[in-house]
Amino acid sequence: MIQAVSAIIDGKPRQGSGATIAITDPATEATLCEFADAGAALVDEAAQAARRAFADGRWRSLPVERRQDLLRRIAARIEDAADELAAIETANTGIPLTQAKQRHVARAGYNFRFFADYIGQTSGTLYDQAPAHLTLVRRQPVGVAGLIAPWNAPVALGAMKLAAAIAFGNSCVIKPSEQAPLGVQRLVELLHEAGLPDGVVNLVNGLGHVTGDALVRHADVDLVSFTGGTTTGRVIQSVAGERLKPTTMELGGKSANIIFDSADFERALDASLLGIFTNNGQQCLAGSRILVQRSIADRFVPAFLERTRRIRIGAPTESATELGPVASARQRDRVLDYAAIAVADGGELLTGGRRGADLPRGYYVEPTVVLAHDPGMRVCQDEIFGPFATLLLFDDPDDAFRIANGTSFGLVSYVWTEDLHLALRAQELLESGVVWINTPMMRELRAPFGGWKDSGVGAEGGAACEAFYTRQKTISIARHPLALAALGRPR
Ligand code: NAD
Repeated sequence: MIQAVSAIIDGKPRQGSGATIAITDPATEATLCEFADAGAALVDEAAQAARRAFADGRWRSLPVERRQDLLRRIAARIEDAADELAAIETANTGIPLTQAKQRHVARAGYNFRFFADYIGQTSGTLYDQAPAHLTLVRRQPVGVAGLIAPWNAPVALGAMKLAAAIAFGNSCVIKPSEQAPLGVQRLVELLHEAGLPDGVVNLVNGLGHVTGDALVRHADVDLVSFTGGTTTGRVIQSVAGERLKPTTMELGGKSANIIFDSADFERALDASLLGIFTNNGQQCLAGSRILVQRSIADRFVPAFLERTRRIRIGAPTESATELGPVASARQRDRVLDYAAIAVADGGELLTGGRRGADLPRGYYVEPTVVLAHDPGMRVCQDEIFGPFATLLLFDDPDDAFRIANGTSFGLVSYVWTEDLHLALRAQELLESGVVWINTPMMRELRAPFGGWKDSGVGAEGGAACEAFYTRQKTISIARHPLALAALGRPR
């Protein structure tokens, strides 16, 4: 297991002198290692290193083919190190190893390949309608990006931000979650092992309100890409806003998974379980509100419960494990609290709501299902972020859309129906940045992924990242010597 450092600046590990932060394995509750919060001083060094790398053009001025080659070498390096990276991610987050390897690490490599291909095909715009001028619009990298990531999918989400930021020629400073920094730290090392010039990607590890805050405020950080909770997002956006820094905010969710009676029943059942229990239930895009049409509830609810009770919960390193521990004791207590809140608010606890797994240690929670009778209940409105499904029944499509849209969030929606016209109506009416019809979670990197309402501002994806990580410049060129008014010339 690697040892956490406070920072990696200009390619070199650094130790800070801030508060000591312990990193825990959620499956064993053992301390994996400790590190000192980077703090403002190391953030300053990291931001200055990124600024130097940007200013001297060691990366952004390379021919695009060389940047593409390097991004592909990084992808290959990640794929070669897949077992190691997945093992680190699992130890630090509790994500089942098979999911860490097949989803997260594979996605991390793909992010770099995707942006390598993307930057080979970008182009500017030419306006030639005006008779005396040609006007070009081109894009240039912005400068230094501050990248702030959460703990629920550190490597996959960190890789998305890193790949996008550097592909378009920026330098950056990444701050992973203080709770789960090890995978991203190894990822940053792999980037350097693949040949990325020093200073282009720097890392700072530390607390959000200390190291993260210093990063957002730093004068050399030109823009901020944040993934995390909505409350944190509001704080970061207001700090960045005072300094007029552009931000993207990928925030929380309480996504509706709508099962119409016209759905392919078995597929909808399989996908509903995946939608809430994958990644130990800790996914921004979890289908955590499962809306079931009343006419099929007698069949769907018992089938969902039976399958939920059979989910294999256990050590995330075991290949048979389907649900590992949640990420921390705090997260475990939060999930258990919501089981009690559901009952207090008049809901029915159908299964779970207890600590899980026959293991002596670890933050295990039984997969939990509650039936809510009122969409205003807290378990229908709050993001719980764990293996916790809230079921709600609806009568007809209008009822379903009203309930689905009746939260402050708007990240994704899932729709299950074989009725084409109903599916088309659903995508029209649902208030979320993404609608998945007859499919579980699907990330099409060419398309934007971003939330509406309290789920975010801006998006990630090919063109969306190009728009964020570059800025436009308009250049007008006279087509021929222009006849100019001769101010001050003797007549
Ligand atoms: P969090 O908001 O607590 O922390 C996220 C990051 O922000 C961490 O690195 C943290 O240290 C940092 N941070 C905290 N306060 C800060 C401050 N004042 N200034 C600068 N940085 C600060 O989120 P979390 O608990 O790590 O992650 C879970 C949340 O992330 C959930 O709400 C989940 O929905 C969301 N999420 C969203 C997406 C998406 O794409 N929409 C993806 C994954 C997770």
